[in-house]
Order: sequence, then structure tokens, then C-alpha cells
Amino acid sequence: NADAAMYQAKALGRGNYQFYCEEMNARTLDRLTLESGLRHAVERGELQLMYQPQIDLASGKMIGAEALLRWQPNGQRLVMPDAFIAIAEETGLIVSIGEWVLRTACSQQVAWHRAELADVRVAVNLSARQFRQHGLDAMVARVLADTGCPASYLELEITETVLMERPDSAAQTLQRLSDMGVQLAIDDFGTGYSSLSYLKRFPIHALKIDRSFVCDIPADTDDAAIAGAVIALAHSMGLTVVAEGVETVQQRDFLRELRCDLAQGYYFSEPISATSLANKFIHGEIQK
Ligand code: C2E
Ligand code: MG
Ligand code: MG
Ligand code: MG
Repeated sequence: NADAAMYQAKALGRGNYQFYCEEMNARTLDRLTLESGLRHAVERGELQLMYQPQIDLASGKMIGAEALLRWQPNGQRLVMPDAFIAIAEETGLIVSIGEWVLRTACSQQVAWHRAELADVRVAVNLSARQFRQHGLDAMVARVLADTGCPASYLELEITETVLMERPDSAAQTLQRLSDMGVQLAIDDFGTGYSSLSYLKRFPIHALKIDRSFVCDIPADTDDAAIAGAVIALAHSMGLTVVAEGVETVQQRDFLRELRCDLAQGYYFSEPISATSLANKFIHGEIQK
């Protein structure tokens, strides 16, 4: 946090304040470099999607995959979404990047289906700006038509915070997408403040329990209770529950006992390229 850093630096005295300014310049430069690089990322083919399997806990089968964006600028280190999605949001570049993501993920769904590798749903993340973008539903419809991906095989993930900021207009946007047959999931559930009455009105099909509630179960009894409560709440509303960030067999077993429907996490697989995922199917490492 810049303000806190400034305050601390000032408190330490003039020399440190100087140091702070230099560091700040480096960071601003970083940002400008990122921003101008990102501007050409799509056309230069520097973006790629990794896919993380979503596993049905009762059967052990893969029923879907979440597409996760990576940026590989020419000759540089791989950049993770947390380092560039916010910049893409602020500059508006997220609109073209987001369309590329959707198109690529839907094409991949069709390719897996055609190759008879898997009949899996593909999940795509939408940021705040994308979700509020005028004409989002038309863009989604166009991509589905162009790629041949059935609407029911596409799931869009929107975070709880984005939905609850403007719940009335969010409900309308969700309804238009749902009318097209697209599946909708609330991402990072439990980290924001959901109003249950809105939750009931949103035409969603799944809740994704945030990783922060999964990482310390079953030992942390508070988190275990929260996970159990979210699963019960979701089921009472007829929703599917997905647990994020499952890393251990103990977490998987505990979630399965709680009747959590789906899970994803390093225990099953890290996000991997479409080719690696296809190889895992072929070698039977992932059940279909
Ligand atoms: P998210 O949608 O909540 O995605 C889950 C994140 O947790 C991913 O990080 C994933 O790699 C990571 N993860 C999965 N399993 C585990 C695990 O077992 N342990 C741990 N520690 N982490 C795990 P990633 O790929 O860095 O993405 C971060 C966030 O960036 C995503 O959070 C999502 O909000 C955003 N994002 C990613 N791709 C896109 C995209 O195409 N468009 C938009 N708008 N946002 C994206
Ligand atoms: Mg997600
Ligand atoms: Mg999440
Ligand atoms: Mg997240």
C-alpha cells in the first residue's frame, strides 16, 4: 500500500523518503512497460491459456476445466494474471483480451469434444469491467456461434464482490446470459459480503468456495464449519458447490464427506496446457 509506505518512509526520515521515491519511479516504469507490452500481447500471440481440471468428488471424473490466463512477453518471464489483469482492467485492454480468452477457451472445448478426448465444460473468468461492458451478452453469443461451443458447455465465473457491488444490474446481466443457456458461477465465494436475498435472485448454477476456507481444513474447525455451511446453503438453493485450492488428500476426503460436488486444486492438477491435459487423458491420469 503506497500510502502506508509513504507514511513509514516519512517517519524514518529524509534519507528513506528519497529511497522511497526512487523505488516508486522504478515501479511506475514497471507499470508503463507492462502497459505498453500488454497493448500488443494479443496480436503478438503472447497470451496463452492453462486449464485446471474440475473433478467430480463422488466419481473422481473430470467434468470441466477452468481456463487461466498467462502472458509470455517475448524473451521474458511468464507473467501471472495477478500481475496484469488489474492493469488490463484500468486501461480497458481487458475487453479485447477477454474476448480472446473466451474465443480460445470455447475453441478448445470444441477441439476436445471432436477428438473424443473429453466432453467437458470450460469455465472462463470475467473481470468487473468485462461483466459491466455493454454488449457482453452479444459478444458471448457471437463467440459461441463462431466456435460451435454449445452454450451449456460454457461456464462464466464472476466474483462475489463484482456481483454485490451493483446487485440489481448484475441480476439483469446474469439473466440475459442464463437465458442463452450459459452456466454461471460465483467465484471466490465467502470473501465478500453476499446478501442471501440477492443470492436467491441470481440465476446462477454454482458457488466456488474460496481457497482461503479450504487451505486449513480439516484441522481449522472454524474453516471446516464455514465450508460445511456454504455447502449446505448452496445445496438448499439447488446449486452446485466447487471447492477451490484442494491440495491434499485429507482436504479432498473431508470435502467429499461434506458432499461437496466438485473440486479443483494442485492435489488433482495444477493449471496445465491443453496439450498436457490431452496427454493426461490419453495416459489415463485423469478419468473422463
Ligand atoms: P481464480 O479464478 O480464483 O483462480 C484460481 C487461482 O488459484 C488460479 O491462479 C489458480 O492457478 C490457483 N490455484 C488453483 N489451484 C490451487 C491450489 O491448489 N493451491 C493454490 N495455492 N492455488 C491454486 P491464477 O491462475 O494465478 O489466477 C489468479 C486469478 O486471476 C484468478 O483467480 C482470476 O480471478 C484471474 N484470472 C485468471 N485468468 C483470467 C482471465 O482469463 N480473465 C480474467 N478476467 N481473470 C482471470
Ligand atoms: Mg475462477
Ligand atoms: Mg476463485
Ligand atoms: Mg481469486
